[in-house]
Amino acid sequence: MGARLQAVGLEKEYGAAMAVDGVDLDARPGEFVSLLGPSGCGKTTSLRLIAGLERPDAGRITIDGRDVTDVPPQRRGLGMVFQQYALFPNLNAYENIAFALRVRRLPKAEVERRVAELLAVVHLEDAAGRYPHQLSGGMQQRVALARALAAEPPLLLLDEPLSALDAAIRDELRTELRRLQRALELTVIYVTHDQAEAMAISDRIVVMERGKVNQVGSPQELYDRPATRFAAGFIGASNRRLTTVELVAGHPTIRWGDARLPIARNGPLPPGSTVMAAWRPEAATLTDAGNAASALHGRIELITFLGPITRLDVRVPGDDEPVLVDLVSTAAAHLQTGQSVAVSIPPDAIRIYA
Ligand code: ATP
Repeated sequence: MGARLQAVGLEKEYGAAMAVDGVDLDARPGEFVSLLGPSGCGKTTSLRLIAGLERPDAGRITIDGRDVTDVPPQRRGLGMVFQQYALFPNLNAYENIAFALRVRRLPKAEVERRVAELLAVVHLEDAAGRYPHQLSGGMQQRVALARALAAEPPLLLLDEPLSALDAAIRDELRTELRRLQRALELTVIYVTHDQAEAMAISDRIVVMERGKVNQVGSPQELYDRPATRFAAGFIGASNRRLTTVELVAGHPTIRWGDARLPIARNGPLPPGSTVMAAWRPEAATLTDAGNAASALHGRIELITFLGPITRLDVRVPGDDEPVLVDLVSTAAAHLQTGQSVAVSIPPDAIRIYA
C-alpha cells in the first residue's frame, strides 16, 4: 500500500533565484500525482526536496505522518528514478533489477520470476545480460524504472522517466507503469513537462509556474476549468486573445478581431476591462453563415487531417492570428481551403481571465 506524502511551504533558493517558492503538496496513498510545468518551473527541485537530495530552506515534508525533512534519502523509504539513471555499472540489466529484490530477501525462484516479469514490462527481455555501458540511454532508463518498481516502494519519485524513449514505446510503457502502479497501489510523484503525458497517466496534476503551484486538479478538471491564464495556455490547445468586455444591449460580449462574441455572465466583468479570453478548438461548430450574427466569419486558411479530428485554421478579419477549430473528421470531409465559414462558439465555452 502506498504512503501519504505531504509537503508544506517548501522553499529552495539558488543564488538570488527561488527555484521552489512556497510549494504545498498532498498525495494520498496509491495516488498518481504529476508535477507539470515548463522547463525551470521547479519540478525537479521539488522532487529532489521530497527525495532528500536537497535540503529545503523552509517547509516540512512528512511521509505517512512522519516528519522526514531531516532524514537522509536512504531512510525515507522511497524509490526514485532521476534523470541520471545511476545504474550499478558493474551489474548487468538482470542483476541491476534483481538487486532490489535481493535486498528485500525474496526467495531465489521468486527473484527470477519477478525479474523476468519486470524485464518484460520494460521490453528488455533480450538485453538482460548487457551492462549499462552496452545499453542506449532509453534502455538504461527502462532498467532504472524496472529496478525502482522491483523494490515496490510505498512512495516512488519519477523525474521524466520516459523522456529518452521513442513515441511508440513511451506510450506503451506509460500504460504499463500506470497498470503496475494501480496493481501495487504505489503512491507516485511524477515530473513531466509533457501535458499530454500528465493528462494520460495522472490521478491529479499539480501545475507549476515559476516555483509556485498554479493549479491542482484531476486531468479533466484542469482541461475543462483551467483556473488561470497560465493553466489555460499550458494544457491542451486554446484560442486565446487579450480583449475587452463590452455590454451590448445589457449582455456582456468580447471583441474578437472585428467581430463580437457573446459570453456567459459567470464572474465580475466590468465593461471596458481588459481580459484574456480563451476557448477550446473543439468547442466551436460551423454554422450556416446566414443565421449566425454572433459567429466569427472567416476563411479557411489551412486544413490539417489528424485522424479522428480535422483542425481548421480560420482567418478572421481584424484578428492577428487564425483561430483553430477542431471538427470530427467525417464532418469536415467536404471542406476546402479558401472557403468562407461561420464559426460559432457557445458563450459558456469562452473562459475569461482577468
Ligand atoms: P526542467 O524540466 O528543465 O528540469 P524544472 O521545472 O525541473 O525544469 P528545476 O530543475 O527544478 O526546474 O529548476 C528550477 C530553477 O532552479 C531553474 O531556474 C534552475 O536553473 C534553478 N536550479 C536548479 N538546480 C540548481 C542548482 N543546483 N544550482 C543553481 N540553480 C539551480
